[in-house]
Amino acid sequence: AAKRDGRGCARIFNRSMLLLLEQRENLRRSLRSALRNGELHLEYQPIFRPPSSVVGFEALLRWHHPEVGTIPPSVFIPIAETDGLMDDIGRWVLEQACRQARTWPSWMTVAVNLSPAQFLSGALTDTVAQVIDAAGLRADRLELEITETVLLEKTVDNIDTLNTLNVLGIRISLDDFGTRYSSLSYLKNFPFDTLKIDQYFISDLETDQKSQAIVRSIIGLAHGLGMRVTAEGVETPGQARFLIEEDCDYLQGNWLGRPLPGETTRDFIRGSVPSAVGTSEGQNRAM
Ligand code: C2E
Ligand code: MG
Ligand code: MG
Ligand code: MG
Repeated sequence: AAKRDGRGCARIFNRSMLLLLEQRENLRRSLRSALRNGELHLEYQPIFRPPSSVVGFEALLRWHHPEVGTIPPSVFIPIAETDGLMDDIGRWVLEQACRQARTWPSWMTVAVNLSPAQFLSGALTDTVAQVIDAAGLRADRLELEITETVLLEKTVDNIDTLNTLNVLGIRISLDDFGTRYSSLSYLKNFPFDTLKIDQYFISDLETDQKSQAIVRSIIGLAHGLGMRVTAEGVETPGQARFLIEEDCDYLQGNWLGRPLPGETTRDFIRGSVPSAVGTSEGQNRAM
């Protein structure tokens, strides 16, 4: 009986695992053709200098799968990475984002997220140089966002890559700061222009004194090192007020502006699109 139970368990386990694998295999297969079929899009989330001027946008990748619907980047980017598709997708993202940025006022920047796979591929600096050249975008209008995981391996090569990008005039941000390894040596050894404080510390900023202390310290640390600070995921006016009071340089979040389709960014810049498009919250961008 024990054996049968065991087999039964194993069979159930296998069947659900198989289902998961099939889904993943399906996703993998369709991700291969998604780029070709025009199923990938970028949205652009505005970044503000307090109190209310837009200084640029962050490009965020979307996959509109014809049957499954919209799949979030947190689901498909890891698949793209393990499947070696991130080089092609990442290049496409860079091209699209740089082209879009050309439609904005010349002082606005576009921030593009880089996955570790792209960063470690060795061709990154050449690709970036080619793409901005082809788009006719000034190098200092492109900001590349990397996370701390990128810095864990091959440190010497990574410093070289970051320095080369830096010499080209491209800006580099450390994304999701504070949530992973956050070694302070990274801040000493890598040429970052901006630290992005993860939403994790912003979401309970109004009630949690520890988050307040951490955010205050990160801002002080960054400024002491000559870096700017962006707060991610600002969802309430209270959070914005705290951040402005503490001298945070840039704010980003749904209360100020949700990610927008590229076509509406120009209208947004002109002020004719409310910040929280399609919702009732955050209509008032002036803080
Ligand atoms: P991220 O770079 O930290 O991007 C910020 C994420 O927070 C975005 O999620 C954005 O939509 C979301 N967000 C912004 N404001 C708020 C807010 O007020 N409240 C809440 N709850 N969320 C907010 P998204 O678009 O799902 O992207 C998730 C992650 O996927 C990104 O995190 C980034 O790491 C990655 N990603 C997105 N696009 C790309 C890309 O083109 N290439 C690569 N390599 N990674 C990407
Ligand atoms: Mg980012
Ligand atoms: Mg982030
Ligand atoms: Mg994040």
